[in-house]
Amino acid sequence: MTVSVPLPVRPLSSTPSLYVVATPLGNLHDITLRALAVLGAVDVVAAEDTRHSQRLLDAYGLKVRMVAVHQHNEQAAAGPLLELLAAGRQVALITDAGTPAVSDPGARLVARVRAAGHPVVPLPGPCAAVAALSVSGFAEGGFRFVGFLPARPGARVAALAALRDEAAALVFYEAPHRIVECVADLLAVFGGARELLIARELTKLHEQTVRLPLAEVGVWFAADPNRVRGEFVLVLAGAQAEAGLSAEAERVLGLLLAELPLKSAARLAAEITGAGRKLLYARALEIRGEEDA
Ligand code: SAM
Repeated sequence: MTVSVPLPVRPLSSTPSLYVVATPLGNLHDITLRALAVLGAVDVVAAEDTRHSQRLLDAYGLKVRMVAVHQHNEQAAAGPLLELLAAGRQVALITDAGTPAVSDPGARLVARVRAAGHPVVPLPGPCAAVAALSVSGFAEGGFRFVGFLPARPGARVAALAALRDEAAALVFYEAPHRIVECVADLLAVFGGARELLIARELTKLHEQTVRLPLAEVGVWFAADPNRVRGEFVLVLAGAQAEAGLSAEAERVLGLLLAELPLKSAARLAAEITGAGRKLLYARALEIRGEEDA
């Protein structure tokens, strides 16, 4: 099939601007026509890794000057880019994959450009978090983007514990060398019944998306050593809404309440089932109230 689609003819604003351009996560075809037109028309492309981005530009025959803007030089690089904008030049910002400033460099540059009074124009496109969320089936109740968790185990568990009762789906980025530890911590904090979507190597040759209860995730990774390779997004189902305490959570809470003080029963039921602790506590109060009546 041949598709002949003209690129936008005048993709740039008449006012010199910073264009924040999303680029592919892996599949080079995941780029918008507008992104190609803007990247081909600007005076300078600020790229996280210029050698990496050169491959994208080459794939589409785009010849444009690039400068490096990465995590370690973002503040220093902002100055010369601001001067270019002030001199009437048009500038695009890209990162190695996905949307700039989402767990990537860009936020500080954007803030500086805005503060200097220049327009900042978004060019939407790929974002690993949104791609994973879109195939999770968990997004209906909203979502919370967490991004990368702390690398140290203690800090990671503490960060997760603070999210235990979050009703929205939680979206995490994780590196392959920490993925197994990370899912073990998810199991410890949220309980085996909570469901997780694992999105691996999105848009690439070995793309995999699988949705499992946390209790089964360790076995899934252990079943094939290739499954710990590549890039990962994890989407965790949110804590169940008020109306939706599962039959299993009700059963476990009932059993524990028969033996334990109310607070301990609710806490343990949350650990065992993954249901929200506040929700279980409220339900436990109800049950005790019914018993006393
Ligand atoms: N700005 C990017 C975005 O919009 O998604 C994220 C950049 S962040 C430095 C890189 C992380 O994003 C990876 O460690 C992984 O968690 C996630 N990621 C990026 N590409 C991915 C892919 N193809 N499949 C799964 N996760 C991916």
